[in-house]
Amino acid sequence: MKIKSKCCRVKVYYFTIMRKLILFVLFFFCVYAHQVFSKKVFRPGEVVPGSYIKSYGYRSFFTSHQIPDTIFKKMFGKSYKENCTVPRSSLRYILCLHKDIAGKTIVGEMVVNASIAQDILSIFRQLYEASYPIERMRLVDYWNADDEMSMRANNSSSFNFRFISHTNVVSKHGLGLAIDINTLYNPYHKYLKDGKEIVEPITAKPYLNRNANFPYKIVKGDLCYRLFKKYGFKWGGEWKSSKDYQHFEK
Ligand SMILES: [Zn+2]
Repeated sequence: MKIKSKCCRVKVYYFTIMRKLILFVLFFFCVYAHQVFSKKVFRPGEVVPGSYIKSYGYRSFFTSHQIPDTIFKKMFGKSYKENCTVPRSSLRYILCLHKDIAGKTIVGEMVVNASIAQDILSIFRQLYEASYPIERMRLVDYWNADDEMSMRANNSSSFNFRFISHTNVVSKHGLGLAIDINTLYNPYHKYLKDGKEIVEPITAKPYLNRNANFPYKIVKGDLCYRLFKKYGFKWGGEWKSSKDYQHFEK
């Protein structure tokens, strides 16, 4: 009788322990499920609320991928032209966050060469952390790979396959090794031999005066300049025969 009651006590003890353990596991499962199921997927161009960043952090937004089929479909015949000599496997689709001048956090996307993907993610992460303003970061395919239209929209981008004029040398943008940042406010500027002035985008003339005050301007020594330099990029703003204030290349 005494043995039986001891056995019962042991059973009750183990039952209590098991019940506590199950409740404990259940509690953590609920917390985990809440985190997973309330995590929203934000698309490129979408604004991410500050409250969301507070809850989930920002680091998981900075990712690099082989070019997904859905993205390649958008690129093919546009930035990835039919005569493209750069293999799809040597490119990466990166997602990140950037802040506009008003401080809104926006999801950005870019296609770059695989060899610089991690560096570009690090640069964009540090620019985001410092609230360095970048207005728009969408694939150039959004503008049918028309650089002029992408630049007029102040879009920041990289890969757009092309050969350097009258050669069979692939340009740095064609390799995904050049990045253009805040393109409307940081134009390309050159005088041809016949004296003709080239400004790209053509709507950027007001921003050729680099002493004037305006948003999204890249200047030598600012954070954008310093970070690209740190990772081994050259800045087009330092070229001699032309100036390309938006352009960083490796
Ligand atoms: Zn460029």
